[in-house]
Amino acid sequence: MKKQITVLPGDGIGPEITSAALRVLRRIEQKFCHKFNFSFSLIGGSAVDVCGSPLPQETIDACLASDSVLLGAVGGPKWDVLPPEMRPEKGLLGIRKAMNLYSNIRPARLWKALSGASPLKAELLEHGVEITVVRELTGGIYFGKRETLEDPTLGPTARDTEQYSAFEIERITRIACELARKRTGRIISVDKANVLDTSRLWRKTVHAYAAANYPDVSVTDMLVDNAAMQIVKNPAQFDVLLTSNLFGDILSDEAAQVTGSIGMLPSSSLGDGTRGLYEPIHGSAPDLAGTDTANPIATVLSCAMMLRDSFSLSEEAAAVEHAVDAVLEEGYRTADIFSAGMKRIGCMQMAELIAERI
Ligand code: NAD
Repeated sequence: MKKQITVLPGDGIGPEITSAALRVLRRIEQKFCHKFNFSFSLIGGSAVDVCGSPLPQETIDACLASDSVLLGAVGGPKWDVLPPEMRPEKGLLGIRKAMNLYSNIRPARLWKALSGASPLKAELLEHGVEITVVRELTGGIYFGKRETLEDPTLGPTARDTEQYSAFEIERITRIACELARKRTGRIISVDKANVLDTSRLWRKTVHAYAAANYPDVSVTDMLVDNAAMQIVKNPAQFDVLLTSNLFGDILSDEAAQVTGSIGMLPSSSLGDGTRGLYEPIHGSAPDLAGTDTANPIATVLSCAMMLRDSFSLSEEAAAVEHAVDAVLEEGYRTADIFSAGMKRIGCMQMAELIAERI
């Protein structure tokens, strides 16, 4: 199979983790006789430095012309002083919008070898953790109208607007229902319907759409404050967790930590077709940039998601996941998941070992 992959290394640890992940993809290419053509484009702070924009038009064009996109991470203190339109995060939100990637899937899985790395007590992890967060990605408060103003009576004031249409809620519900069908058939939909109008529309629409189109899938509701508590109290109760852009952003980081480290969690962002954007859920970790200590596994597992979800290469995706499992079982650890008695290694060596075990 021949595929064109656009790589957006981005900022901070982005270049290190993407180059580690490409080592693994090259091994897949060689072992399974595929041809992956990689091209590189700028995004985030590095694009601001070179082109004066966090999302140059050439980057959008390259992504739209490829079969899939691999992204590292964007952002860093160097660019925090820039006006909102020039901030690296604008590049990330912009590419998701330009590719119409409205669904973000973030599987938080507790790897057996890493159960000691979870901050939760062993008895809370007895039944494992396998939470798949399905987050709406191109609507809600991150894309609503916002302004900062000088109110005559209140002084400096700012507002952000959360907006959802039934259409946006229905299409993300469809993604969650399709996923639930392949798993336990259960969805927990998270909102704040006791306070927010958008959440009341969310709840009504999710139930109506699922009942009409997926009668075999059960949907229960949970308020976001309770969900935040339940994820650390009883993580095994969650399978598919469906939620909005803002709540999904926050709850998936919490779920990540339950599984040991944010450095382990991949994600896929998809729209209506098979072309997706794959990235680790973590940020650019400026504190680790250039030290070869970042954990590349989230990015490597994002590549496994790309192989399965964009290219329908299930065997190849499973080979990557088994190799990650093998390396962890053998006791190799990057600093973020290190514990006494384990073998501490860097970012590139972790990728090398994973590639060797494929
Ligand atoms: P972060 O995810 O970059 O880092 C949070 C903590 O996790 C840090 O201690 C970091 O060292 C650690 N960490 C993150 N990835 C790791 C990895 N692969 N291996 C080991 N440890 C890892 O979040 P932050 O510190 O809040 O943000 C840093 C920058 O990243 C900011 O500019 C922020 O805007 C940006 N950001 C980007 C994205 C993205 O590109 N998708 C997401 C979140 C934050």
